[in-house]
Amino acid sequence: MELVHVESLGKLRETFNSGKTKEASWRRSQLTGLLKFLQEREEDILMALKHDLGKHPVESYRDEVGTSIKSVNYALQNLKYWMSSKKVKVPIAAFPTRAELVPEPLGLVLIISSWNYPIGLSLEPLIGALAAGNTAVLKPSELAPQTSSLLAKSLPAYLDNKAVKIIEGDAIVGEQLLQHKWDKIFFTGSPRVGRIVMSAAAKHLTPVMLELGGKCPAVVDSLSSSWDREVAVKRILGGKFGACGGQACIGIDYILVEKNFAPTLVELLKNKVISMFGDNPKESHSIVRIVNKSHFLRLKKLLDDPQVKNSIVHGGSEDEENLYIEPTILVDPPLTAPIMTEEIFGPLLPIITLKKVEDSIGFIKSRPRALALYVFTNSETLKRRIIAETSSGSVTFNDAIIQYACDTLPFGGVGESGFGRYHGKFSFDAFSHEKAVTTRSFLVEIWFRFPPWNDHKLQL
Ligand code: NAD
Repeated sequence: MELVHVESLGKLRETFNSGKTKEASWRRSQLTGLLKFLQEREEDILMALKHDLGKHPVESYRDEVGTSIKSVNYALQNLKYWMSSKKVKVPIAAFPTRAELVPEPLGLVLIISSWNYPIGLSLEPLIGALAAGNTAVLKPSELAPQTSSLLAKSLPAYLDNKAVKIIEGDAIVGEQLLQHKWDKIFFTGSPRVGRIVMSAAAKHLTPVMLELGGKCPAVVDSLSSSWDREVAVKRILGGKFGACGGQACIGIDYILVEKNFAPTLVELLKNKVISMFGDNPKESHSIVRIVNKSHFLRLKKLLDDPQVKNSIVHGGSEDEENLYIEPTILVDPPLTAPIMTEEIFGPLLPIITLKKVEDSIGFIKSRPRALALYVFTNSETLKRRIIAETSSGSVTFNDAIIQYACDTLPFGGVGESGFGRYHGKFSFDAFSHEKAVTTRSFLVEIWFRFPPWNDHKLQL
């Protein structure tokens, strides 16, 4: 069955061709619409996220509503500058010439998003697409059904429906959308589906941006001050269990630590898990539930390996009916077990011990490049070596996740964690083409540029 109507996509293209989305006033009105949606429908958004993921409203506000409001405001404040053409220098041979970069929208773009931050990961790229003057189709994830439905039913009232369409659906709808011609596809999700997106885009030579995942390591140096340890442990747990219950693309996947410091770190982590989620975390409202049964079973299977089970030093309990898995800490599970070869995407935190903290560099380099790398250290030498010798989408020293909220930093992966970057001006650029415009006057001319060629010209 054809679930995506070609006709409705044609209308979006007509809107783009009419030129109205290029106007600054139109772009501003769409961004203001997004802002109003976030402000007026805040309660509904928080309820939908509670329903889909069991996300606490404070976490939802921090990571989805609040972050998105910040991003829209940033776009509104900077739109005029982003839209302006930028003069560039020219070589002497082209003198006198005015050269400039003029940003123009790409056209009709497709945004496919994921379920773990179903508001943020839908609206953040949409902000960029609309600020840049495109028309857009957004397909939220079917795995966050209440949020997807809220976006489809409520968001259109705040936007130009001739320019923006929200299409709900699963992989089948996604595949149908991919058959159409787009001017850009922005995809957030798994490397598996990323490959499907890229091959579909090749047919129309459509540029793609892939925001994928992977295993984000956190290196923990043997911090000596008790204050530093306290802060680091809080931020590590925040970047794991406090980030959608471990279901975050930039969440900490595993820890690398020196063998001698590991027992201290494990004790500190265990105590802090209890102070964050209580003696019975199942009763806590501060831990997000596993999104669905198939992800629950996938995580359970990671733990069911007897060698992995033996490495559990904290937690390990689960409750299928409530899609609950206890925040679990493991020490040295086998490196060949799926928990160490696949993205975990859940509340399981393996700690891998190394002889020296510097060995973490070789460990990281021997694995696919991560979306984010976290390093907790006071050593300037280690920081310099990490930056110089490893590759990842981002590196954050002494914290986790915070880089996501910085509009001035590009967000995106490298290698298997994806390509393309967005957030702030990078989002505007991701959905724009920077046209090279050269303007010359007729007044001055250098005749040796032109035929007929002769010996005199050769000597020049
Ligand atoms: P997914 O790839 O299964 O689904 C992502 C989106 O693609 C959904 O909207 C889904 O409906 C759609 N889709 C699924 N199959 C499709 C197909 N055949 N054709 C077209 N569309 C299809 O991923 P997921 O389970 O939503 O997310 C988990 C993955 O996403 C993890 O790997 C995680 O690290 C990654 N992720 C990355 C980021 C980031 O910003 N880099 C953010 C969140 C999640």
